[in-house]
Amino acid sequence: MSTGSPLADLAARAAGCTRCPLAAARTQVVFGVGDPDADLMFVGEAPGRDEDLQGEPFVGRSGQLLDRLLAEELDLDRRAVYIANVVKCRPPDNRDPRPDEIAACRPYLAAQVELIAPTVVVTLGNFATRLLLATDQGITRLRGASYPVGDVVYVPTFHPAAALRGGGVVLAQMRADFVRAKQLIGRTA
Ligand code: URA
Repeated sequence: MSTGSPLADLAARAAGCTRCPLAAARTQVVFGVGDPDADLMFVGEAPGRDEDLQGEPFVGRSGQLLDRLLAEELDLDRRAVYIANVVKCRPPDNRDPRPDEIAACRPYLAAQVELIAPTVVVTLGNFATRLLLATDQGITRLRGASYPVGDVVYVPTFHPAAALRGGGVVLAQMRADFVRAKQLIGRTA
């Protein structure tokens, strides 16, 4: 049944997805959250335990840091942006998502970017950055710059979990990347 919104239809289809082995262990699919018309989108790696239970991306400790940076650097609430992950189901024991799982889930993320049509996408960590920029290079190398691809400008930054582990230097670099994203929205919106 169609809900009238292509994004909601896609979410409904994803909710029953069995394209990869992660379907077996998930509590629920964590599709994405936020404003479907957002200028700014964030893409993380994969749901963790809290996200799997609540059905919303970035609601655990990493999410609290993301919310804080959104508020402090962009003066934005998470409801004003759109937040999604590379894979929509929790990998068991929070292991990294595997290439076959990323490949199976990729059409959902591609469709989300196309339907939301943000001006700027901030990629959080290596998995989102490598997938969306189609590169093997790591986040430490790529961050600190922006990368236009088609109608979207990508701004790679660290995953919030890296800042929670790595402390002040990583956090300061994330703040600078968030400011870069803000400036790009201001310039192109
Ligand atoms: N880490 C992610 O990459 N995504 C989430 O949704 C939560 C933690």
